[in-house]
Amino acid sequence: MGIPRGFIKQLPRIRGLIGYYGVHRQEGPVDIDGLITEKLKIKLRYADFDQDEWIFGFSKVDEIQTKKRFIVINQAKPYRTQRFVKGHELGHIWIHPPEDLPLMCNPLYESKALEREADYFAAYLLVPKYALESIRKYGNSFDDIALGLEVPRELVHKRFEIYMYQNKMEAGSIPNWNQVAF
Ligand SMILES: [Zn+2]
Repeated sequence: MGIPRGFIKQLPRIRGLIGYYGVHRQEGPVDIDGLITEKLKIKLRYADFDQDEWIFGFSKVDEIQTKKRFIVINQAKPYRTQRFVKGHELGHIWIHPPEDLPLMCNPLYESKALEREADYFAAYLLVPKYALESIRKYGNSFDDIALGLEVPRELVHKRFEIYMYQNKMEAGSIPNWNQVAF
């Protein structure tokens, strides 16, 4: 299906926000909790969705006037998946109009445009560019990167797609990745 158009349209703004908040300033796993709770003052809650385990999380903009926002994460999911869902929920808050929230989210539910956009947002947020460049520089695999950044491997795939797209757009050429084993 490729990169969702809604995400590409917002990419310059997303890059601006990531730069502004210094999200990629340090190497290693992105401090997603710190970004959400300290820098953005968005409340982060954990819950067990026993009855609805297909729900990975949701985000809500409550009483728009007061800008009270919060994110709820299904704590029954694996740690790396929870980090992915946090990025995904922040994506909804940053790139989607408040009237579209809340969405009960399942990152695997790819038929919905908003869900796919939030997934690519999470990939862009949680997988910095330097990590992809480590493929060529140090021969790192997608699994190495996913492990180092504490994200699911699938997210590295999505970020790689964006990276290739950006290379094509910005440099007018695609690097030769044929000899790289993923
Ligand atoms: Zn969602």
